[in-house]
Amino acid sequence: MSTFSLDPGPDQIAVRDWLHGFAADVVRPAAAEWDEREETPWPIIQEAAKLGIYSLEFYAQQYFDPSGVGIPIAMEELFWGDAGIGLSIVGTTLAAVAVLANGTDEQIGTWAPQMFGTPDDVKVAAFCSSEPDAGSDVSALRTRAVYEEATDEWVLNGTKTWATNGGIAAVHVVVATVDPTLGARGQASFVVPPGTPGLSQGQKFKKHGIRASHTAEVVLDSVRLPGHCLLGGKEKLDERLARAREGVRKSGRNAAMATFEASRPAVGAQAIGIARAAYEVALDYAKTRVQFGRPIIDNQGVAFQLADMKTRIDAARLLVWRASWMAATNQPFTSAEGSMSKLYAGETAKWVTAQAMQILGGNGFTREYPVERMHRDSAIYSIFEGTSEIQRLVIARAVSGLPIR
Ligand SMILES: Cc1cc2nc3c(=O)[nH]c(=O)nc-3n(C[C@H](O)[C@H](O)[C@H](O)COP(=O)(O)OP(=O)(O)OC[C@H]3O[C@@H](n4cnc5c(N)ncnc54)[C@H](O)[C@@H]3O)c2cc1C
Repeated sequence: MSTFSLDPGPDQIAVRDWLHGFAADVVRPAAAEWDEREETPWPIIQEAAKLGIYSLEFYAQQYFDPSGVGIPIAMEELFWGDAGIGLSIVGTTLAAVAVLANGTDEQIGTWAPQMFGTPDDVKVAAFCSSEPDAGSDVSALRTRAVYEEATDEWVLNGTKTWATNGGIAAVHVVVATVDPTLGARGQASFVVPPGTPGLSQGQKFKKHGIRASHTAEVVLDSVRLPGHCLLGGKEKLDERLARAREGVRKSGRNAAMATFEASRPAVGAQAIGIARAAYEVALDYAKTRVQFGRPIIDNQGVAFQLADMKTRIDAARLLVWRASWMAATNQPFTSAEGSMSKLYAGETAKWVTAQAMQILGGNGFTREYPVERMHRDSAIYSIFEGTSEIQRLVIARAVSGLPIR
């Protein structure tokens, strides 16, 4: 008897239906307003927290779902509601995953709950890796962490950019270089606790899409951190640096890359949520919009467009679910399947939302209809968490075994 199945189990279906209800009743109706306001939708994050959708327990449960598809299913539904609000709700998880991936059990227990706060006092967290001169090239980052033996403190200096929730977060996770001569292998991740002097928000960016999500620079000016804020601890870091100095490669992954790798299929699932939302609007519109005496879907040209949209969305979801299942079952990503899923889902969201705008004609170009916003929101999915070009680079290196540049 075969055990292969693509059917989500009862637990995943329950999560899907629960999140879909929240996305349809709370998120979608508020989407246009928060997109225009370009502000973090705190009341909606709070409502999500009250319902248990914005909580460490909820994400931990999905993260450790043995099938792997708990997180992608949750992401797809939330982002079907709206991507800007969706990212405001799940942006914290990027920092949480960094702590889960690199922290000790004690650090996870201390910092992860503080990232979410409580339903009466919600907090968000930020993951700060990118810098003005280090985007795709994470190894070029210049934020420096210097250890002071006498006080067992780390002192951080530098400027981070593009940080989701940067400056408004309670907890910031910052990737810094400890030994610049070692490139990516000389980096480490640090927790900056709430209220730490020296951390401030720089410019807040006005964006093309996902405008409800806060994106800003984070300035670190002689930020002093107790030794225990180094994720993974000093002993582990010293061993890692010693190996790097001897030229021994235990694994090619550095702190930032470990975080990105774990989160890529989940980001792909967000893109699928946007694509599915736009496809559904376009399908409804095509059935009801009459031109030349018949619904526009009666034209093969329009119907085939919808057929292609649906096919690509389902193909993207299969790639995301495969990568998520592989991660959950500890299978090696020999062909960079995580990157594949993010690449294809991100490009699909951009393409599908563009087709949806076309099917809605002039209405698709206005803010009276949601596909214009969905199209703007989709554009980030070929940029953040590794651009589409970087995903192709990672896949090309994995499949060829060559150091493609
Ligand atoms: C809204 C938003 C939210 C973000 N949130 C976060 C966050 O929370 N935390 C965080 O750390 N970062 C975050 N980022 C940063 C994001 O990950 C970077 O923008 C992204 O990695 C690209 O870096 P860059 O913008 O510097 O572009 P660059 O690296 O300068 O790339 C510019 C162009 O060159 C191409 N390119 C670069 N190198 C190569 C190559 N070797 N081969 C082929 N093409 C190449 C790129 O694909 C791209 O098209 C966010 C960005 C945005 C816009």
